Amino acid sequence: MAENNKHDNFDFPPVGRKNNKMQKFGGYWTYIIIAAILIGYQFFSMPTNPERISWQEFKNEILAKGEVKDIVIIRNGGKANIFLKPEKIETHDKLVAKGFNKKSTGPQYYVPFGTLEQFEKNLEDAQKEYPEAADIHIDYGDEYNWWADVISILLPLALFIGIWVFFMRRMSKNAGGGAGGGIFNVGKSKAKLFDKESNIKITFKDVAGLAEAKQEVEEIVSFLKSPDKYTKLGGKIPKGALLVGPPGTGKTLMAKAMAGEANVPFFSMSGSDFVEMFVGVGASRVRDLFKQAKEKAPCIIFIDEIDAIGRARGRNPNMGANDERENTLNQLLTEMDGFETNSGVIILAATNRADILDSALLRAGRFDRQIYVDLPELKDREEIFKVHLKPLKLASDIDYGFLAKQTPGFSGADIANVANEAALIAARKNKSAVEKQDFLDAIDRIVGGLENRSKVIKPSEKKAIAYHEAGHATVSWLLQHAHPLLKVTIVPRGKALGAAWYLPQERQITTKDQLLDQMCSVLGGRAAEEIVFGEISTGAQNDLERATKQAYAMVSIYGMSDKIGMLSYYDSSGQSDYSFTKPYSEKTAEVIDQEVKDMVSAAYERAKQLLSEHKDQHRQVAELLIEREVIFSDDLERILGERPWTEDGDTIQPEEL
Ligand code: ADP
Repeated sequence: MAENNKHDNFDFPPVGRKNNKMQKFGGYWTYIIIAAILIGYQFFSMPTNPERISWQEFKNEILAKGEVKDIVIIRNGGKANIFLKPEKIETHDKLVAKGFNKKSTGPQYYVPFGTLEQFEKNLEDAQKEYPEAADIHIDYGDEYNWWADVISILLPLALFIGIWVFFMRRMSKNAGGGAGGGIFNVGKSKAKLFDKESNIKITFKDVAGLAEAKQEVEEIVSFLKSPDKYTKLGGKIPKGALLVGPPGTGKTLMAKAMAGEANVPFFSMSGSDFVEMFVGVGASRVRDLFKQAKEKAPCIIFIDEIDAIGRARGRNPNMGANDERENTLNQLLTEMDGFETNSGVIILAATNRADILDSALLRAGRFDRQIYVDLPELKDREEIFKVHLKPLKLASDIDYGFLAKQTPGFSGADIANVANEAALIAARKNKSAVEKQDFLDAIDRIVGGLENRSKVIKPSEKKAIAYHEAGHATVSWLLQHAHPLLKVTIVPRGKALGAAWYLPQERQITTKDQLLDQMCSVLGGRAAEEIVFGEISTGAQNDLERATKQAYAMVSIYGMSDKIGMLSYYDSSGQSDYSFTKPYSEKTAEVIDQEVKDMVSAAYERAKQLLSEHKDQHRQVAELLIEREVIFSDDLERILGERPWTEDGDTIQPEEL
């Protein structure tokens, strides 16, 4: 299919498109044949056109000789049709040449006239003049061109229908190139079907890490391949599985790999594909999808971004809830209940917002299994790097483990991006292979944005930025739980004028001390400005925002303040009634505000104190930064001394030192 060439392997024409084309083809041909028959009939049944002749000629040559049998005066046509006596026709060479003969019905001639009265008078005179013409039968008639009438009715109608069809096509095309387009197909599901001919090349080998998730999915594939193995012992095949995890962690990739591995048909569509501007379309698409799937069973249905339709239904129907979406969801729930467990249709869905999904969707019997696809850990990242670096030409200094360490918090998609970005950077520098430094540059770029060395920065501003960043670096160096520092730079990047780069620790839980230390190092920049210049600037806006958010979270979510106590006002279900009102009293709100303020102030004071105690070192760091623009943890170690803690923030025991 030519269409496949344009797209990658996953863009197959939607199901049913081929059939539609066939139907359309047949439809067009019927119309063409009917039109041809009509035109042909007109053409063949038309009498031979009469010959034009002037009044004078008619009077002298034909009327005078008594050759005329009838005259029919066509009032609305401004002419008179002349019918000759049959035996006289063949004496007219002109007529014979035109194909007239004895049997032709006629008229054979017509005479145009100016006014009817004048013509009648002329005719009367001529009849009086020539006795041969006295017995001519004269009649009156009107001529109807029914063909013109038909066209005058049909043309506007055809035009109207044409415009209507054109707009309907455009509309359904804009809505995602539906199944074969066309207004009559809006209710059809837009699922793409992958089957044996589709030749999907992605397999589980391309999905790195995610061992548990992979195992679950592999199990589903094997259910479909040999259901007997499981049903023999009385087990039921699960109806559906929900892949949950942050964006870019490989949920779609996993589904594609499943399509590649399972040799069963695979329907893929996105949650938003169900919903259209027309009411009722979503539900009908769900029905159509399941109908198609049942016909092809055993098979897999994959719904990406299911939160688009699966969002929890509103409690208050008058609040402008999205009825169309709810109808679609209801239909999905009904369909999932409706088919037998052993019918061999398995539904796989992906979302990064499992918390907002309707609880009815999550109950056992619908999505029986929830598979968590989390951000990759160190080991997984190493694996993902291996997959994505395979197609690159690498220098010998590449260490996958090192790269994995440099990318905490990166998703699989981010890592794929790093690999690609590094290759581009190396190519820009005309290197023959991608080196370690290219990867580090790529990581910096992805974390911090593009370097912007051409930004004009005044020397006084540069000094302020340097002292600000040195403040962050110095404070975090001196705090036990702050993230280990990687480097500090005052090269503008993206929107930031400078940055201290940390290597965030991968923690499953974070203690209060750790959070407070982080807050303190975030405020180190503003503290440095105040101590060194006695003047504060707008440069700390982002720092203050982060500190404030963190403080509010600590007080109102994590229950880390004494005055508020062990209360958490966070609603993970997203279904609270508090969307417009606070779940606490005004008095509590005041206490929360005060607690947050105290917490941030205390952290700020601590940062200021640390900087005052190490004023000299702070100045050295800043000066070095002004000189070099980028400094690394080694430089800090030289100035501030070795940190007495391990990378994880644990105290190093004397024997380890
Ligand atoms: P999402 O979870 O948002 O559906 P995708 O599956 O679309 O994420 O992932 C986007 C891209 O990230 C993939 O095409 C792939 O290149 C890369 N990727 C993500 N996770 C992995 C992984 N575990 N192994 C290999 N590549 C991955």
